[in-house]
Amino acid sequence: MVPVGAAGLVLPTGLRVPPGLRPRSSGCRRWCALRPSGPGGHYDGRAQREEWHDAGMARCGRVRRDSRHRGPGGDPVSPRGWALLTLVGLVAALVVTVAVLIPWQRPPAPRADQLAALDELPRDQVSRGREFRAALRPGGWAALGIGLLVALALGLTPLGSRLVELVGRPFGGHWAAQAVLGGLTVVFVADLVTLPFAAWRHTVLTRYGLATNSWGGWTVDLLKSYVVSAVIGAVALGGFYTVIRLAPRWWWAFGAAGAAGLVMLLSFVFPVLVEPVFNRFTPMGPSPLRTELMELAARDGVPVRDVLVADASRRTRAVNAYVSGLGPTRRIVVYDTLLREATPEEVTAVVAHELGHAKDRDVVVGTLTGALGAAAAVVALYLLGFVAPLLRMAGVDSIDQPRAFPLLLALVTVAGLVSTPAQALISRRIEARADAHALALTRDPGAFVAMQRRLAGINLADPDPPRLEYLYSASHPSTVERIAAARAYARKTSR
Ligand SMILES: [Zn+2]
Repeated sequence: MVPVGAAGLVLPTGLRVPPGLRPRSSGCRRWCALRPSGPGGHYDGRAQREEWHDAGMARCGRVRRDSRHRGPGGDPVSPRGWALLTLVGLVAALVVTVAVLIPWQRPPAPRADQLAALDELPRDQVSRGREFRAALRPGGWAALGIGLLVALALGLTPLGSRLVELVGRPFGGHWAAQAVLGGLTVVFVADLVTLPFAAWRHTVLTRYGLATNSWGGWTVDLLKSYVVSAVIGAVALGGFYTVIRLAPRWWWAFGAAGAAGLVMLLSFVFPVLVEPVFNRFTPMGPSPLRTELMELAARDGVPVRDVLVADASRRTRAVNAYVSGLGPTRRIVVYDTLLREATPEEVTAVVAHELGHAKDRDVVVGTLTGALGAAAAVVALYLLGFVAPLLRMAGVDSIDQPRAFPLLLALVTVAGLVSTPAQALISRRIEARADAHALALTRDPGAFVAMQRRLAGINLADPDPPRLEYLYSASHPSTVERIAAARAYARKTSR
């Protein structure tokens, strides 16, 4: 069912994690918008780049007419031309993937049903949820705004490039030091400015009784998330700038393939390498509920080895469940809080929803769109490197230097914010389909509604959130939408 910080990552502290990667959460793990990261070399942009040449192909490539790269009309196609063609192809593939694999056809539950559902929720529960969400709102938007401002300040002024240079200085300005250490420093600085908001969020969660961890536990989670970010970031940055040095003219092609590959790899290894850093997972012990869940999975035709229980109660009272991983690493995880708080019928409804994600291969679809998006982002960044005013603002002479990494980060941050509503819309469609699957599988709309009410109550959800906020970032249909969908199902099946 519900969302979990993708990647165990939208961490306990709410921090953004892998520098270079923006995990999206929502029941299933979806990797979105890789930030091709990293500052690169210390060599001097264009001139040297032309000399190095990839693939050992001669020199002075820009002017050279190479028959191997002739377009249909016989005109030579430059790397830039190929990049443009590739970008068009990737965007087309992304559009087709999203158009074909996302369930667009299902109409939303009638608003009248939603309002009726809202009416039936306990008044005090609704007002407490709204009060809690209102308390979180200012800090959330402020963190978003300030994070954006800092990313822009670092990327669209020479500040960021100077910072990268400064970090590389003790290492003689070596490109690798600038790329990895400089890049990580920029990401860290951008994160650090939003740290007070993360801390403040924790105080709100504690005040409302949702957080169960102390400041000590919160700090440990924070440090762990930094370490995970640094490891993934270092690999991404080091790899990216190595590729640029090895293939100065065609790095965008290798970089795009590498970014897509990294998204897939992370989706695969996340459940086994990263999630255990933050939580302990134990197979659900033998019980009538476990038997029931395994039978449900068998009936659904979804092979499940085990249902894992996460010790979420160490930091939250919130209840949740999710599916993550691909192939052999795929698993269904339920929070221990869910088992403690919900009735067996409600847990069954939650797991049926997760089985829907597994059956419809939502993690695969999410990974595929994430990989296409990441590849397109790398190519788009390469092309933006030809926009001279951007380079001038950033105080760099070429996009492929490590010193230009802050510019890349700024562009990716903007792209991330702009694409958030589209990602949220896709996510809501997928979640609505998983809900429909749960209803069809359990044929128990009553338990489904009870589960939604309990979920909203414990998690202090606003059952019918403000429209703009919902459209901008809601990864799931609202509580009233989900209840209304269950009512519609009940009406349809009782006829
Ligand atoms: Zn879900």
